[in-house]
Amino acid sequence: MITFDRVSKIYSDSSIALQAVSLQIRPREFVSLVGPSGAGKSTLLKLLIAEEFPSEGRVLLDGTDVTTLTVRELPYLRRRVGMIFQDYKLLVGKTVYENVAFAMEAAGRKEREIAESVPEALEIVDLVDKRNNFPNELSGGEKQRVAIARAIINQPDVLMADEPTGNLDPANTWEIVRLLEKVNELGTTVLLATHDREIVNYLDRRVISLERGKIVRDEEKGKYDRA
Ligand code: ADP
Repeated sequence: MITFDRVSKIYSDSSIALQAVSLQIRPREFVSLVGPSGAGKSTLLKLLIAEEFPSEGRVLLDGTDVTTLTVRELPYLRRRVGMIFQDYKLLVGKTVYENVAFAMEAAGRKEREIAESVPEALEIVDLVDKRNNFPNELSGGEKQRVAIARAIINQPDVLMADEPTGNLDPANTWEIVRLLEKVNELGTTVLLATHDREIVNYLDRRVISLERGKIVRDEEKGKYDRA
C-alpha cells in the first residue's frame, strides 16, 4: 500500500510542486498519473523513492514512512520500487545482459541467482536474442524493454514509469504499454506518469489527475479528459 498523507513539496527556490496531496494506492493497482507539464508528477514519484523529501506530510510504503529511512536503509526501499524513465538510463558500456545483471549484483545477489533470473527477465521482455548487444545497437523500444527487465529483476512491489513512451513511435509505445500490463498482471503495482491520452484511455484503469500540485481528479476507471 502506498500512502501520501497531506504531502506538500516546496523546492528551495520556493516553487510549489505539490500541495497537500493525499492518496492511497493498493497493491496490484495500475494507476495512471496525468496532468500538464509542471503539474508535479515527477516530484510525486521521486518522493516515493525518497529521492526528494516532502516539505510537509508523510509518504508511506506498506506502513513505513520513507522519509525517515536512513542512508543505509534506502537501498532496500529502492529495491522494492523499480523505476523506468523516458530516456532509459542504461549503462552504455554494458550489454543487455550485464545491464540487467548489474541491478542484481548491486543488490548483493548470488552469482547463481543472477544466472538464473536474468534470462527469465529477458524472456519476459522478449530480448533473449539481444542479450549480448550494447544499448547503442538497440531501438528505443528495445532499450525501454531492457530498462523494464532491469526494473523488475529484484521483484519490486511497485514499478514506477515516468513518461516511458515519450521517445517512442506508436508501435513501440504499444509494446511498452502491453509489457507494463503484463508486469502488473504478474503482481506488481504500476504507477505510470504520462501525457499520452490514448494510452490512458486504452488502459481504462484508475487515473489520478494533477494540476499545479493538486489532485483535481481521481477516478477508478478514468479517461485522460473529463467526460
Ligand atoms: P511534472 O513531472 O508534472 O512535469 P515536476 O514534478 O517535474 O512536474 O515539477 C513540478 C513543479 O516543481 C514545476 O513547477 C517545476 O518547475 C518544479 N520543480 C521540479 N523540480 C524542481 C527542482 N529540483 N527545483 C526547483 N523546482 C523544481
